[in-house]
Amino acid sequence: MGEPNLSRRTFVVGAGAGLALAAGAASSALAPAARAASGPAVSEQRRRAVVIGTGFGGAVTALRLARAGVPTLVLERGIRWPITPDAETFPHMFSPDRRAAWLSPSTVLTGSPPRFWKPYTGVLERVRGVGMDVFCGAGVGGGSLVYHGMTIQPRGDHFAASMPSVLDYDAFDRDYYRRAAAVLKPEPIPDDVLAAPSYRSSRMFLDRVADSGLEPYRVPIPMDWDVARRELRGEITPSYTTGDVLYGANNGGKNTVDRTWLAEAEATGRVEVATLHRVADIERDPAGRWVVHVERITTDGDVVERIRITTDALFLGAGSAGTSRLLVKARAKDLVPDLPEGVGANWGNNGDRIFSWTPVGDSPGALQGGPACVGVRDWDNPAGPITIVNGGVPFPTDVGTTSVIGFSIVEPRGVFRYDPVADDAKLHWSQTYDAQQTAATTKQVRRILGGGKLVQGLANITLDTSTVETTTYHPLGGATIGDVCDPHGRVLGQRGLYVNDGSLIPGSTGACNPSLTIAALAERNMDEVVTHDVGTVF
Ligand SMILES: Cc1cc2nc3c(=O)[nH]c(=O)nc-3n(C[C@H](O)[C@H](O)[C@H](O)COP(=O)(O)OP(=O)(O)OC[C@H]3O[C@@H](n4cnc5c(N)ncnc54)[C@H](O)[C@@H]3O)c2cc1C
Repeated sequence: MGEPNLSRRTFVVGAGAGLALAAGAASSALAPAARAASGPAVSEQRRRAVVIGTGFGGAVTALRLARAGVPTLVLERGIRWPITPDAETFPHMFSPDRRAAWLSPSTVLTGSPPRFWKPYTGVLERVRGVGMDVFCGAGVGGGSLVYHGMTIQPRGDHFAASMPSVLDYDAFDRDYYRRAAAVLKPEPIPDDVLAAPSYRSSRMFLDRVADSGLEPYRVPIPMDWDVARRELRGEITPSYTTGDVLYGANNGGKNTVDRTWLAEAEATGRVEVATLHRVADIERDPAGRWVVHVERITTDGDVVERIRITTDALFLGAGSAGTSRLLVKARAKDLVPDLPEGVGANWGNNGDRIFSWTPVGDSPGALQGGPACVGVRDWDNPAGPITIVNGGVPFPTDVGTTSVIGFSIVEPRGVFRYDPVADDAKLHWSQTYDAQQTAATTKQVRRILGGGKLVQGLANITLDTSTVETTTYHPLGGATIGDVCDPHGRVLGQRGLYVNDGSLIPGSTGACNPSLTIAALAERNMDEVVTHDVGTVF
């Protein structure tokens, strides 16, 4: 990619050799590098600002830096997925191939059939922990590539009960949520699409909600529902309308962050996105600058080059798991002296529970319409607020089952700890931490599915799959505001080091999905950074 506005100095070194300056190297992301006697070549770069990750936090950060006139390098471990209407860019839930998993020899997603292949830089990572595995997106766009797109603003009291207390809900309500929503453009499913045969599971769920006395809710989704209409008319291959979205939507209709914030950032000419650039470690040098140790990899995961990038400002947007792992490693190995003790802690799963629902005497059918676009905001439940949604599943044949997902507010008691053998940080979690919320969610799901009657609900076969496959789509925490960062994401005591992603949030976003809140928080933090730090800190 061309990068005319990036004033860059690239240094080329062989391992153990002296530096050779190659200033202002031209077009590619990397200058030619000397090859070490053994192992991949090592090169050096100097940048003004570096962002790690291209999810919600990273993309907002990149755009705001670009608008402030700051040349910015964005490092993304994954590939750029060519998203166009009616493509075969992403794999399918029930016939996965190597594109479905991040550098894993087999399928990682629960429910997707097991397949084995040569590892690839695929779209979904499963970060294995002790007592909890985390799913996250990989590639330009981060989690927005694989997410359903449920875009929900929490209520003020639930925001206050779960978000850092310095955050002012009124300001979010007035400004930051609106800014994020203006980019994502979420819309509820229209009547005509909901009436289509493939949305039978959604309609069944809405009926059960109404029968239980709660108010049915259509979840805003950042997508063009006209694309769903085209699918229903047979003009393009179905993706949304068969619920085949968890490895990415193949219809080009979703407003993923690579096509919104990040596309706008790149269009300024000030932002360069370097794909297949995996950050292995971060470090502070004796002069107080930030050093990013990068592995440039192939799509098979082989390291072909190591790059040492020095920068005045480093923004961590690698997501809760990615950012926490980098910070915990840096602290354990003393690469960044004096990192706050709370690094890696205050982590939670947003109260995620996933149930399979098999209604007796009725069936949600095969190829169930999606994304998860209907539900209920059971926010006055005396046991605590819960959002419950139906997630259509693209079953190739009718097996009589669909999925139901619940979110609540949990105590952020998970922690990432350094594992020297793996040279990585591992998440530690116990199901006792959210047992109370789990019980409340299970009870309410059964009550709703029984049309208001718990006993009738028990007649449905409702399994909490999370008790056996303890995973989450919603990792939050590890570098939280207050313990690790100041109210705007500056890491305490570390000038020029910032966090701007889901790591800032201690475990829950007010009993609903987190992406809108992460984007809104990132916008808010960048208001402060561009006003006070651009031109002074970097
Ligand atoms: C299957 C699934 C469905 C979901 N559905 C919803 C939903 O409907 N609604 C909702 O609100 N949320 C949903 N989520 C959650 C949502 O995607 C996340 O909350 C959100 O993406 C987090 O944003 P982030 O900026 O913190 O990080 P991410 O979006 O996770 O972005 C992190 C980026 O950093 C990159 N990265 C990580 N480590 C490194 C490294 N070492 N070097 C270089 N790059 C790195 C990653 O590849 C990624 O691009 C879903 C998640 C999943 C997995």
